Amino acid sequence: MMLRLCRGIVQSSSNFVFVRCKRCQNVQKLFSFQTLVKRGSASGRRSTPERDKHDITKIRNIGIMAHIDAGKTTTTERMLYYSGTTKHLGDVDDGDTVTDYMAQERERGITITSAAVTFFWDGHRINLIDTPGHVDFTVEVERSLRVLDGAIAVFDSSAGVEAQTVTVWNQADRYKIPRLAFLNKMDKKGADFEYSVRSIQDKLQAVPLPLQIPIGKEQSFTGLVDLVTMEVVTWQQTNGKNTHGKDFIKVPLTSEKHTALWEEAVNGRAQLVEKLADLDDIFAEYMLTQDEFDALQVPTEEIQSAIRRVTLGNQAVPLLCGSSLKNKGVQMLMDAVNRYLPNPRERKQEVVQFYKNDLCAYAFKVIHDKQRGPLVFLRIYFGTIKSQGGVYNASQDCTERISRLLWVLADDYREVSSMEAGNIAVAVGLKKTVTGDTLVSSQPAFRIACKNYVNSHPQGGQAALPLLEGVTVPPPVFFCTIEPPSQAFQDDLEKALQILQHEDPSLHVRTDPDTGQTVLSGMGELHLEIIRDRIQKEYRIEAELGPLQIAYRECIHGSATQSATLDRVIGDRQHRAIVTVSVEPLSDLNAPTEIKLKDESDAYDEHFQAALSGAETASIQGPVISFPVMGVRITVTNCHILPGTSASVISACATQAVHRALQSAGGAIMEPIMNVEVTTNESKLGAVLGDLSKRRGEIKTVDSHLRSRVVIAKCPLAEMVGYSTKLRTITSGAATCSIEFSNYRVMTSSDQSKTIKNIMGIL
Ligand code: GDP
Ligand code: MG
Repeated sequence: MMLRLCRGIVQSSSNFVFVRCKRCQNVQKLFSFQTLVKRGSASGRRSTPERDKHDITKIRNIGIMAHIDAGKTTTTERMLYYSGTTKHLGDVDDGDTVTDYMAQERERGITITSAAVTFFWDGHRINLIDTPGHVDFTVEVERSLRVLDGAIAVFDSSAGVEAQTVTVWNQADRYKIPRLAFLNKMDKKGADFEYSVRSIQDKLQAVPLPLQIPIGKEQSFTGLVDLVTMEVVTWQQTNGKNTHGKDFIKVPLTSEKHTALWEEAVNGRAQLVEKLADLDDIFAEYMLTQDEFDALQVPTEEIQSAIRRVTLGNQAVPLLCGSSLKNKGVQMLMDAVNRYLPNPRERKQEVVQFYKNDLCAYAFKVIHDKQRGPLVFLRIYFGTIKSQGGVYNASQDCTERISRLLWVLADDYREVSSMEAGNIAVAVGLKKTVTGDTLVSSQPAFRIACKNYVNSHPQGGQAALPLLEGVTVPPPVFFCTIEPPSQAFQDDLEKALQILQHEDPSLHVRTDPDTGQTVLSGMGELHLEIIRDRIQKEYRIEAELGPLQIAYRECIHGSATQSATLDRVIGDRQHRAIVTVSVEPLSDLNAPTEIKLKDESDAYDEHFQAALSGAETASIQGPVISFPVMGVRITVTNCHILPGTSASVISACATQAVHRALQSAGGAIMEPIMNVEVTTNESKLGAVLGDLSKRRGEIKTVDSHLRSRVVIAKCPLAEMVGYSTKLRTITSGAATCSIEFSNYRVMTSSDQSKTIKNIMGIL
């Protein structure tokens, strides 16, 4: 059987597929189609050693990021298909994609977990992490960004830059991740290449570097002109047989044959060359050595090298276009990944150098597999990680054992004996490791790295440990109760929640001290609903959520000192404790509550330890409506204890004392405030502003960007429930919004009274 691919000839024997690269003529062995396509069947097979030892300069660890619905998943599916990793072309609308593998993702058509996928393209190993676009899952995006060397930002070319893209783009800026932009949906009604390029420049303050121009638009989008090679690439309807865009025609652009495209392409190339000369000194010098400035005469290789340098230096963003759904342009995007995005060696991690050639890996994701237990996704920065060996978790100071090592294709895994620097691997057997941990080969190796670290920071670094930085998780602003169908399921529910919490650092689980109910807190409605769905589907517990509530916080106005006395006879023993505490507001009310002893030398006294734990219990029930207190310093000043008094009595006494002190200091409710960014057209601006002010919104700025207006506001979360639906209605779908947590703010007394009435159900 022979299949024609754009980059080579694929021959398929019964088990393996061979690809001959058209450029280098090398034959490569790919994986068996059957093992990869049939889900769950590949486990246990060992990959070939040549696959494990891939040239590090030919590895790309990249992510795809975008606003929801821009086409990330559709683009990923095309990449897997064209690379020969899958035989069937998945479709988000039919719910059969490889990367949206969790049942909820398929049903809802969105990406929740970052599925890691490996595929090979033109001699390169591409480890691709599909990241979710919904605001409830920004933690997922953040933890993927930590381990990426490069990224593709996908845009809907009929919408340009949308709100969520701005959030993700800023996150990628923080990690200095070199990016390519893919203007997808060129086939869609309203697709506008020029507008999208300008919106990338204006809204993202990026320097776009268009490497292509589209041929036709909307329904008549048929291909593109490559401004680097000056070739015309078109996809033709093949007679009868649908090759899903694998076949395309590439011909040199000529003024005779392509009269309609010639002028635009020549201008496009001239602009590209000029921009590169502006941005890149080496290229500028090259241009100066030329007798005359003729953009058409500049060799392709010179332009490609310059594009690579400016991309790696985050000076510009190469821009490509296409239509993933209509199978156009994705192969050129994959070529650009290999050509312009960095290999793992080209990205520096300051801490990693202290490990010399020893293992240094970072755990960036944990998922639980029913059979295998926790699967820990690792980015290997240095050295080699082996299966059947021990590793030292430097973040938690414990040694763990890896029983098996896998590389991953979405929900399918392949076993390997070792994995080298630059790659992403999945370790089985690590029980304690969580997201954000640094793994090294052994404790002595870690000590050596610490020594290297200290020697190079003679002034004494803040944290004298060479650990990779963990993930920042915003506070959970929503909570709700979760109930099992009957008491008989309580234990199973607790176990399921423990596992889900291990996977997801933005999920918090606690027991309400008054009602004994289990309470979930998370990033939003969708986040908690997905947790409920997973409990129902994966753990078969028909749990139900209580109404969604806002996670308020409480603060205090003044300072106070109070004592409590507890005198109990338990059995035949007298227990007596007198605990005195003082409370005072911190200067930053958004800071976590501090709980301390007046005299630090009492820290080893078990009575004081019990008092501290009692104070901590009290701090999660504030004086107004029993929400946790923030921005408070609680100091245990004194403990008088009758010898033999139990720790639980001391702790209960301290709880009482803190409650009294908080009451007498006078409390107030603080509510979560969100940063809201709405992009709308001029005609709907009034409606958007009016609606935001009804929601107690504080408008910060209204900017003009091309045809759109961008409103930046701060709004209480309580007023934002159901906002995106309302926004769609009042703007007839012409606006987009992004909402993210900003800070907690003290409520006015009238808002506070309304909130109290609401919570007490009096209204
Ligand atoms: P994601 O949320 O970014 O992962 O986006 P999806 O890949 O799930 O796609 C969202 C919707 O856009 C789906 O209905 C896709 O069929 C559709 N879509 C994706 N790519 C294109 C494209 O190139 N053109 C058009 N017209 N629709 C597309
Ligand atoms: Mg998706």
